[in-house]
Amino acid sequence: MNDFIISSLNKLKEKKIPNPEIDLRVLLNYSNYSSNEIVLSNFDINQINVQLFNDLLNRRLEHEPISKIINRKNFWKDEFYVNKFVLDPRPETEAIIEESLKIKKDNKLSYNILDIGTGSGAVAISLAREFINANILAIDISDKAIEVANKNIINKKLVKQIQTRNISIDFLNKKFDLIVSNPPYLSKKDFENISKEIRYFEPAIALDGGEDGLDFYRNFADKIPKLMKSKAHLILEIGENQFNDCLEIFTNSTLNFEKKTKDLQKKDRIMVFSKL
Ligand code: GLN
Repeated sequence: MNDFIISSLNKLKEKKIPNPEIDLRVLLNYSNYSSNEIVLSNFDINQINVQLFNDLLNRRLEHEPISKIINRKNFWKDEFYVNKFVLDPRPETEAIIEESLKIKKDNKLSYNILDIGTGSGAVAISLAREFINANILAIDISDKAIEVANKNIINKKLVKQIQTRNISIDFLNKKFDLIVSNPPYLSKKDFENISKEIRYFEPAIALDGGEDGLDFYRNFADKIPKLMKSKAHLILEIGENQFNDCLEIFTNSTLNFEKKTKDLQKKDRIMVFSKL
């Protein structure tokens, strides 16, 4: 293998970057002058903008995630623009889309969906792809996140179907058929111990759930049912070991617990509630 490749790989390995070959390949292709895919075995230095590549590699060596460096992250059926103001959409959150599909079998025109804390807009956009007649409201208290969501919604030509608003749910009084959310749920301790990739490059506002991680659920458990039509559903992402607390918080608030699903690590991750 080429010396340049070997030395770049060694730098990544020294910093214990998890998938050095994959990351290197992505960064090389991002610095690629042509559209011919670079693979490590046939690499020739003249293929890339070396200055650009070195800048990108140095960012990765500082633990910036690849997604933030190339401003792209895949989720469900799309690729999304992401930056430091939004949480990267994560594979486990795709279960929100899967559970939504199980709940909603018809394609009524008037179906109204609310996405709380939309971030990049990935969940709202993926729901719009699946429920082509639904109207979706995507809200976020971060104005910078709303800018990113708007960019993705415009890119995907979904401006007619998805409205965004830079507000908290306190300011809503409409009723919805389906409410989804991946709120901030890390406890103070989890947040402090999380990987550098997340701690320094993902927005704290999307992760920090207060002392025990349950602030969002506790603060909005009374408000959310007021925004639900009768027979409406709520699909929530939860953190590790938060199932029992969230069950208590939301069943006290008059919602009916329907089911939970686990992620690929076998951890409770998604809860589904309904309103009578
Ligand atoms: N699952 C995310 C993480 O561990 C946390 C997401 C959240 O707080 N909503 O990075």
